[in-house]
Amino acid sequence: KPVIIIVVGMAGSGKTTLLHRLVNYTVLSNIRGYVMNLDPAVMTLPYGANIDIRDTVRYKEVMKQFNLGPNGGILTSVNLFATKFDEVISFIEKRADQLDYVLVDTPGQIEIFTWSASGAIITEAFASTFPTVVTYVVDTPRSENPTTFMSNMLYACGILYKTRLPLVLAFNKTDVAQHHFALEWMKDFEAFQAAISSDHSYTSTLTHSLSLVIDEFYNNLRSVGVSAVSGAGVESFFKAIEASAEEFMETYKADLDKRR
Ligand code: GDP
Ligand code: MG
Repeated sequence: KPVIIIVVGMAGSGKTTLLHRLVNYTVLSNIRGYVMNLDPAVMTLPYGANIDIRDTVRYKEVMKQFNLGPNGGILTSVNLFATKFDEVISFIEKRADQLDYVLVDTPGQIEIFTWSASGAIITEAFASTFPTVVTYVVDTPRSENPTTFMSNMLYACGILYKTRLPLVLAFNKTDVAQHHFALEWMKDFEAFQAAISSDHSYTSTLTHSLSLVIDEFYNNLRSVGVSAVSGAGVESFFKAIEASAEEFMETYKADLDKRR
């Protein structure tokens, strides 16, 4: 059965570019992959999608028809697509022995997928049929700011506990900034506190307190540094996915079945 990789992350973190890189890697390595685009509003894609939401729903038409703004249009389009998602699942199931991975790109604005009913429906549909892993893409250069780093980690933390799926943090754009500082901050909260100590704002006090409790979250995930542009780290990324897929089969699957 193929492993589903759902790629989420803040707008501009590099989800689409990373997917393009992963697709190129799978082609070169004889890994059999399928790509799915769930962003109805993207103009052009750098990769050829095997399944594209834009073939089914036209978000500009949805905006007009339901008299919505851009965000409402995107959200409603994903909702409409989610109602037919069982067809998508059976389409992939029919090809299951010919596939190793299904890579899933999500809308630019993260909350459209992670805080919507349709995002939950789509994630559940995947996880009840295939081993499923969530990849949270982090803009590494922007996360060098400790407060931004903590916001990103809290968001990822929310996704981990909401989906209850294995999570891989992909620190992207390592061609611009290496992610060592992030690993250090996750491993050693005193190093993180040293980084925020120069900031005397309210948020820094909050961030300080949060760093004391977020350890448990860090223990529950895998982190890799990647560059969607240079291709660095892609091999480690797939290793992390492989380990997470095994974890899914061992732990998460049983947990999911129990809750159902
Ligand atoms: P998305 O909104 O998360 O899908 O982000 P995109 O893939 O559209 O990328 C947003 C911007 O970040 C684009 O200008 C990309 O060229 C840039 N970008 C993405 N990945 C990398 C990377 O690894 N390194 C660098 N330097 N830029 C990147
Ligand atoms: Mg994108």
